[in-house]
Amino acid sequence: MFFVRSHSTRVRTVTITVMGMTTSASVPTEPEAAISSGDTVTDRLVEANKRYAAAFSDPGMDARPVLEVAVVACMDARLDLHDALGLELGDCHTIRNAGGVVTDDVIRSLTISQRALGTRSVVLIHHTGCGLESLTEEFRHELEMEVGQRPAWAVEAFRDVDQDIRQSMQRVRTSPFLLHTDDVRGFVFDVKTGLLREIDPT
Ligand SMILES: [Zn+2]
Repeated sequence: MFFVRSHSTRVRTVTITVMGMTTSASVPTEPEAAISSGDTVTDRLVEANKRYAAAFSDPGMDARPVLEVAVVACMDARLDLHDALGLELGDCHTIRNAGGVVTDDVIRSLTISQRALGTRSVVLIHHTGCGLESLTEEFRHELEMEVGQRPAWAVEAFRDVDQDIRQSMQRVRTSPFLLHTDDVRGFVFDVKTGLLREIDPT
């Protein structure tokens, strides 16, 4: 999170004739192309979805994750959970937020995941270079100064990623709402190498 990456701009100009009116538009030539004028990023996603749906066939799964695992991870754009963990469609629940921290809402999702949809294992993933390492709870104060209202939520900023993973594991293990807290493991994903490093809970 909080990292900006520049995309190369590769567009071609096409002529579109609609109801007798002719106009020119820039059209991306590849999925990585930058947003062309007139298109929002959401427009791009919707177009991509049409291509996805055209090739999609219903795998006939139910909603219960095949591997009976829930993965809690940071929302960081550099972390592709399915690729990084060899996961397939239908294998797991993925619960993501800023930092991959175990908030009340993550406990809510894990509780539903376990009690209604049969998961038994929990995998927690933080990562190197997380934006939360550069924030403090002062962020809430600054927000309050700006908008006149103090957010009810904690920023959950951290300095030591290993320690924060331990705290997250502890929050899961001690939750009274969860059915299964024996298989809870925590990792730090290295965004430079793609490797996971497991964190000793003690
Ligand atoms: Zn992060």
